[in-house]
Amino acid sequence: MSYKCFFCNKNISDTQIRKRVRCIYCGSKVIFKERSVPTIVKAR
Ligand SMILES: [Zn+2]
Repeated sequence: MSYKCFFCNKNISDTQIRKRVRCIYCGSKVIFKERSVPTIVKAR
């Protein structure tokens, strides 16, 4: 399963956000699952 950054729209693998929900490219904490229905995942 892959995720996408809400801001820079880059693909992020689930292993990359396993430790910390954050975009590795722009540092955004808003990431959504790349599925038909987007699910917003926010870091606490
Ligand atoms: Zn990003």
